Amino acid sequence: MIIISMLVITMTAAAQKVDFMCNVHTVNKQEGQWRKLWRLDDPDGGYVIIRKAKHPNEHVGILGILLYKDSFTGDFWAYELQCPVCKDRGVQSEIRMRTNIVCECRTCKSEWQNIHMGSACRTNQNGGYYLKVYNAESDDGELVRVTNWF
Ligand SMILES: [Zn+2]
Repeated sequence: MIIISMLVITMTAAAQKVDFMCNVHTVNKQEGQWRKLWRLDDPDGGYVIIRKAKHPNEHVGILGILLYKDSFTGDFWAYELQCPVCKDRGVQSEIRMRTNIVCECRTCKSEWQNIHMGSACRTNQNGGYYLKVYNAESDDGELVRVTNWF
């Protein structure tokens, strides 16, 4: 019983740790996202979805990471892919980009604007429900590391 408890604790800790590195020029293809616009290396800014299902043994959060690059500042922003509203209801549901700066959850219809500014507060319904923000850093603008410690 003690061993099982320890295993659960270890697995929970492993699932919560986030540490993922990628190259902006190759990550969209690597993740199977072949769209022409809004890729992570698009001069107009873009994003990539990194799914836990594709990286079961890596530290990519609960369902994965939405990694975004703002074209004006060059800043990277990383968000947990699991919708926080659905998570509270015990439902697995991904957020997705609806426009180039707005993301949404198809399941609960929540919406978050200003994704390019790291803004994580829900902007429709009754507000609240912040997206989980991870730390995204790049020294050279090519290799990006996403972590959940600061
Ligand atoms: Zn939702």
